[in-house]
Amino acid sequence: MASTIQTPPPSPPMRPGRPPRSFAGPVVLIIIGVLGLLSTMGVLELEQVGIYFSKDLSKSILYSIAAPGTSQHIAMLAFDVNEFEDSRVREIMSKHGWFQTVVSDLPHFTYLGLKEKDLPKNGLRSVEVNGQVFWIPNVAGNLHPGLDK
Ligand SMILES: [Zn+2]
Repeated sequence: MASTIQTPPPSPPMRPGRPPRSFAGPVVLIIIGVLGLLSTMGVLELEQVGIYFSKDLSKSILYSIAAPGTSQHIAMLAFDVNEFEDSRVREIMSKHGWFQTVVSDLPHFTYLGLKEKDLPKNGLRSVEVNGQVFWIPNVAGNLHPGLDK
């Protein structure tokens, strides 16, 4: 008895210059965005009546995360550095305008695009925590130091 090897039928020829038609990716992204916005609106409404969603449930979730669409990461102005404890890494980052700006988020570096010596005259003040320098807005009553993420 002879055995035959089945081969798949040939693929249809590709049309040069046109991407394959698939709306799945964009549709999924739109659905995720709408659901995220709706759930954020619900969370913020609950927080208005005193039901908070921060990590310790004592304050707004906006102390823990950025509101949708406002993340510095999405705007490519923030970068989380795993080696943030290495002073050499922090030095390289600052040399290129990146500074730690959120005391409660150690790996988070924000692109300020300035030399460190110029930060004070641009409305920032330094705060040292565990040997690391954070640059925060120089405003009175800054109880929760750090820029929005
Ligand atoms: Zn970050």
